[in-house]
Amino acid sequence: MALCGITYRCGHTDTVEIKGINWFGRRKKKAAWYGTIDCPACRAAKVRRELNSLPALEGSDEQVARAADIREKMMELLEMLDETQEDHDGRAESGATEERTELADRTSAWLKAQASASWWVDHQEPVHAILDAQEALRGQGD
Ligand SMILES: [Zn+2]
Repeated sequence: MALCGITYRCGHTDTVEIKGINWFGRRKKKAAWYGTIDCPACRAAKVRRELNSLPALEGSDEQVARAADIREKMMELLEMLDETQEDHDGRAESGATEERTELADRTSAWLKAQASASWWVDHQEPVHAILDAQEALRGQGD
């Protein structure tokens, strides 16, 4: 266990606890990984900006209120997935990765365009929502 000073991609710094034995510079690698992601505050700000740019939800007041929460959690998740993806891109340059990135981008765009409050209420499980979005994209015939 060790406390490490790290610098996020956004330039903000923090001290984090990196657990485990420091085999083969593992700790240094983990610390370097933080340099590839934004700090939690910047990530939250990015999600807020993203939410502001989304279409207004349509449905009853109750549905819209519930859907807004569900959609916010989904945007946080997409933001995290996006960063993991970027991390992968840096390491692997295979065609499969590119394809996956493309699908992830299209899925995320589809979800962002989804304005039906009842759809979000029906897809509270992120995995469910992502699978459904990909199903809809396949239905568009490509
Ligand atoms: Zn930051």
